[in-house]
Amino acid sequence: GVATRDIHLAFGANRVLRGVDLDVEAATTACVIGPSGSGKSTLLRVVNRLLEPDQGDVLLDGRSVLADDPDALRQRVGMVFQHFNLFPHKTVRQNVTLGLVHLKGLSKDEAAERAHHHLDRVGLAHKADVRPGNLSGGQQQRVAIARALAMEPEVMLFDEATSALDPELVKGVLATMADLAAEGMTMLVVTHEMGFARSVAQQVLFMDGGQVLESGEPDRLFEAPRTERLQRFLSQVL
Ligand code: ATP
Ligand code: MG
Repeated sequence: GVATRDIHLAFGANRVLRGVDLDVEAATTACVIGPSGSGKSTLLRVVNRLLEPDQGDVLLDGRSVLADDPDALRQRVGMVFQHFNLFPHKTVRQNVTLGLVHLKGLSKDEAAERAHHHLDRVGLAHKADVRPGNLSGGQQQRVAIARALAMEPEVMLFDEATSALDPELVKGVLATMADLAAEGMTMLVVTHEMGFARSVAQQVLFMDGGQVLESGEPDRLFEAPRTERLQRFLSQVL
């Protein structure tokens, strides 16, 4: 699993994370919800070591990783962003194999075989030879998921992976994410999709002002929010 302990981070005078604790048990999914600017993306970036916290610790399988090489850590923690960041001039297959060859040291054939497996998993093996620009946004996001999965991470982070998609494309990406959760991936998912949080996650964390104000099982959290702040947030988004 993945955990954080008392994470603090400021950008200048802006204290964006103010003591964040979370625990995502192995093979479970936790969803992070909360208003814009509450620090959700920043938290994911700390977990993925794209940002160093001013204070606190990040644990993988109970072991602190902050002293490890960030590049090595990023191979253990996959991340999918709102904008898929695929290389436009490379094919779908090349987008997936690039990291396998350069970061994992696989041969071209091994990488191609692994890419096929993960593209097949997200239903896009037949698109391996096209460029991302010829795919729908939802398909491009599923390629980004396959690319992250091909690195065989222990944990997957998703930062509003469906927010940039046309409404009719959201379902397919959420279904891919739900499949992944059902297969036992450990997932930390920032999302505005309350239906996904409710049906897939074992745990929901509500962030506001750089802190986890409330967390718990989805049914409890959505049906009986304890803080006035979460009640107000839910009344706006549900
Ligand atoms: P949203 O729902 O809009 O994505 P969020 O909860 O993901 O919001 P963050 O992106 O984590 O929020 O931002 C939290 C705060 O940190 C904001 O006030 C933002 O302006 C600030 N911030 C984020 N990244 C940086 C940065 N690189 N430099 C300076 N300030 C930043
Ligand atoms: Mg964000």
